[in-house]
Amino acid sequence: MEKGRTIEIRWHGRGGQGAVTSAEITALAAMREGKYAQAFPSFGPERRGAPVLAFNRISGDTPIRIRSGVVKPDIVIVLDPGLVTLINVVDGLKPGGALIVNSTRSVDDLKQEFSGDWKLAVVDASHIARELLGVNIVNTTMLGALIKTTGIINLESLNEPINEKFGARSKANFEACNRAFKETVLSEITTSGPKKDKKFQADRLPKWNELLVGCAVTDVGNTKRFCTGDWKSEHPEWNNDVCIKCGICSLYCPEACISQQNDGFFRADLFFCKGCGICAQECWTRAIKMVEGS
Ligand code: SF4
Ligand code: SF4
Repeated sequence: MEKGRTIEIRWHGRGGQGAVTSAEITALAAMREGKYAQAFPSFGPERRGAPVLAFNRISGDTPIRIRSGVVKPDIVIVLDPGLVTLINVVDGLKPGGALIVNSTRSVDDLKQEFSGDWKLAVVDASHIARELLGVNIVNTTMLGALIKTTGIINLESLNEPINEKFGARSKANFEACNRAFKETVLSEITTSGPKKDKKFQADRLPKWNELLVGCAVTDVGNTKRFCTGDWKSEHPEWNNDVCIKCGICSLYCPEACISQQNDGFFRADLFFCKGCGICAQECWTRAIKMVEGS
């Protein structure tokens, strides 16, 4: 690392995807290399599926005293592909920096979305995580992409922090990380494409003290104001052969978006379903399965 320089990283994810854990592991790995590091989340009323932020600062030789959130990052990492079109993930990204995205799209395709003087790196981390971890939680996978793109820490430095965090599951997490390291595709500095001018609209989300309790967390009128459907990377599928029409799933859905159909079976309105998976967890006959895609 350049002497006297502090690298700032901003992680964009959704509640439940492990953005905060990624930031923590990155900081621990950097400290094991003798660097100075910080990791901290942006606190808010986030629920599973809602956009969340986490931050790192890493310096090779200088103690870090600043404690505020990162607004002009050197590196931006996007754990959820859907966020690219939802918010301005490159807000404040410094020239010469890097944007690292989990996406099935090619680098050339994704490049059309942005304009700026930084590197673009793309990896299909969801696919890797599903294959090697069995779940679409891409935090450790994206660490491989971060290291390939920036070299800010060494792959080996992740050993202890990943072991500490994941115990028996650490082997699969290492594999996912290593595979992302190999499969991440980099582009040269990008300067073309329409400039996005979207800001993260935190004011579109309900504040914690506006949320009602029960079925739900949001009342019907409130639910309709927020298109939570575009938060999801998975959606529920019902098996009518197993469903006994008890309606438990609809009681637990935090978006109150499951309703009984004319045939008596239950279905979610995917425009509001945020893919949290609570219905599948609560269905005691296992009639609901979460499947990839929105
Ligand atoms: S909880 Fe399960 S069994 Fe009951 S209605 Fe929902 S899907 Fe059917
Ligand atoms: S339908 Fe299921 S996955 Fe969708 S928001 Fe409701 S509980 Fe979550």
